Amino acid sequence: MSGEQCSLVAARSKARKARFDRKRPSARQRGYTRQWERESKAFLADYPVCVRCGEPSELVDHIKAHKGNQQLFWDRTNWQPLCHHCHNSAKQSEERRKS
Ligand SMILES: [Zn+2]
Repeated sequence: MSGEQCSLVAARSKARKARFDRKRPSARQRGYTRQWERESKAFLADYPVCVRCGEPSELVDHIKAHKGNQQLFWDRTNWQPLCHHCHNSAKQSEERRKS
């Protein structure tokens, strides 16, 4: 009985984890790790202004899509500081170009 209980709990937590993983995009797989968080924060400290609108920068964008390429990903010359608004509109126009 207790064994059954255990496997039930295990199955439940596995399902919960699967749901959790689905909800989260595979940011980590694409290289957005703790190291990235640290490096990008340092970058934003050096470049506190959005390159597009001059508002305070909030995130680091890759000028050239890295598509998982580690060299491009970590190349600071491929980074630009953006605010959320500009990042979103940049990504949207990129999506439009693709389709
Ligand atoms: Zn901006």
